[in-house]
Amino acid sequence: MSVACVGTGISGASKIASGDAFLVCRGPVCVTPSWIDTHEIEAEVARFERALHTAGEQLRSVRQQIPRDTPSDIAEFIDTHLLMLEDKALSSQPIQLIRNEGFSAEWALQQHRDALVRVFEQMDDSYLRTRCDDIDHVVSRIVNILLEQHEPQFGSLQGQIVLAEDLTPADVILMKNQGVAGFVTDYGGPMSHTAILARNLGLPGVVGARCATTCLQHGEHLLLDAENGVVLADCDDTMLAYFESLRDAAATRTNQLRRRRAEPATTRDGQRIAIQANIELADDVVAARANGADGIGLYRTEFLYMNRAAPPDEEEHFAAYLSVVNGMHGQPVTIRTLDLGADKQPGGGTHSMAATNPALGMRAIRLCLKEPELFYPQVRAILRASAFGPVRLMLPMLTSIWEVDQAQRIIDTARKQLDADGLAYDPDLPIGGMIEVPAAALAAHAFASRLDFLSIGTNDLIQYTLAIDRVDDELTYLYDPTHPAVLRLIHEVLRACRVTGTAVGMCGEMAGEMRFLPLLIGMGLRDLSMQPAAILDVRERVRSLDAAELEAIAQQAFAVPDQVDVNALLADLEKRH
Ligand code: PEP
Ligand code: MG
Repeated sequence: MSVACVGTGISGASKIASGDAFLVCRGPVCVTPSWIDTHEIEAEVARFERALHTAGEQLRSVRQQIPRDTPSDIAEFIDTHLLMLEDKALSSQPIQLIRNEGFSAEWALQQHRDALVRVFEQMDDSYLRTRCDDIDHVVSRIVNILLEQHEPQFGSLQGQIVLAEDLTPADVILMKNQGVAGFVTDYGGPMSHTAILARNLGLPGVVGARCATTCLQHGEHLLLDAENGVVLADCDDTMLAYFESLRDAAATRTNQLRRRRAEPATTRDGQRIAIQANIELADDVVAARANGADGIGLYRTEFLYMNRAAPPDEEEHFAAYLSVVNGMHGQPVTIRTLDLGADKQPGGGTHSMAATNPALGMRAIRLCLKEPELFYPQVRAILRASAFGPVRLMLPMLTSIWEVDQAQRIIDTARKQLDADGLAYDPDLPIGGMIEVPAAALAAHAFASRLDFLSIGTNDLIQYTLAIDRVDDELTYLYDPTHPAVLRLIHEVLRACRVTGTAVGMCGEMAGEMRFLPLLIGMGLRDLSMQPAAILDVRERVRSLDAAELEAIAQQAFAVPDQVDVNALLADLEKRH
């Protein structure tokens, strides 16, 4: 056995996986300039045309392998790429470059790709701009064929462990649908949306392993310990049996805890803690219910926009929301309006190339207010779903109070239009906002006065407070929820909500991390939303805690000068229980 790679583990419902490695050579197309001799020109053109033909065959075969019950968007996504491949606009220019400039096929294609991307990047429409990603997908496929590299084959990943430089949230959804056992990436932090989505879907992984795609071989058998962030190769039978026994023990514990899922999470001194689930897809309701969630505290609706060419229409939004509302049988469902941008791009691409710093760019509520045609159908659908159960509408990434005013105006217009259309909705639908920007936390009183509820999004709040890109694995060591600045901002939000009597909860990953639970309860939080797999353990732990005692400890945490002391305090508390 050898330890092949170490990174940050991403474990939710599953913590261990084993399978053969599937090396994905994709990522940005990287072709070095190369030329051919005059006598090679026609052979090079023929080589390019053969690659186009093979790429078309690959995509058609992929399309045939898509299981019947897969959402139609995935087939549409492939159709878009097929159309691009068959379009002369993609092939004629590279052929001219081969003939006139003597470029190699891959260099000619790269030149043409760069010219196309430059045109798309100048477009105003953000949705069209992301079509650059489609160009890259198609061009990478052709280049990989020319360079004889592996491309992922949809439908061929069953039981395998994907190795990639990086993966997008959209890739995670596709991989999950294809039955992949786990994944390892060279880059990416544990708080990226790719990691959060994988955790919530129960797909084990190791991110930021740096050497994965160079040290590990395609086809080699791997064991992935997602709890400890370790990838092992060449495991013998004893080692495999040991990990199998760990997996069995975890399953037994989950089953035991599930038997108590109907019992509320109440502290020893009688404080009831609501434990809700964060979900990304309508189907995640199954896991939320299986673990006894008290509701959906965060439905990340932007995943409806991924792996497809066009945004969903109102009916599609409505069908998804209705299925979640019905699935939760009368428990509250908080639907967050779309938070596209930064590391979540429609269609499944990576960062918008036009933005120099996507995390600080046109994201979430900013994008919705700039492009109301994206926002409006969603608002109508949320309102319509509210006629069928307790729904709350939540606005992401608020910074200024006028964003609430503008969103409110759009919501009011949707209400009037629904009245005119004779469609029902809850007239008292609560409208809340996420506090995930330090400015909003410091101005929490204004937001708490205007909104029906607030939810603290620590994933972004920490990113923006500590000035660390949550996607960058080199900065993971700085990502500390117990930094005094972060704790003070959380405290300020809770204080403002106490003064205004506004409901407040937390839905960032911090809410589901066991070691922070005593601190959060001590600070006064009573409403936590987390990945479904964390609910059972957190609920059990709540029952062993005393809220009054924790209040005193939270005061102490506030008094200490830095996070080293806060962490020592939490470790000490852990030992005592
Ligand atoms: C957050 O920022 O804490 C949050 C819950 O939102 P997301 O992770 O989707 O950005
Ligand atoms: Mg966020």
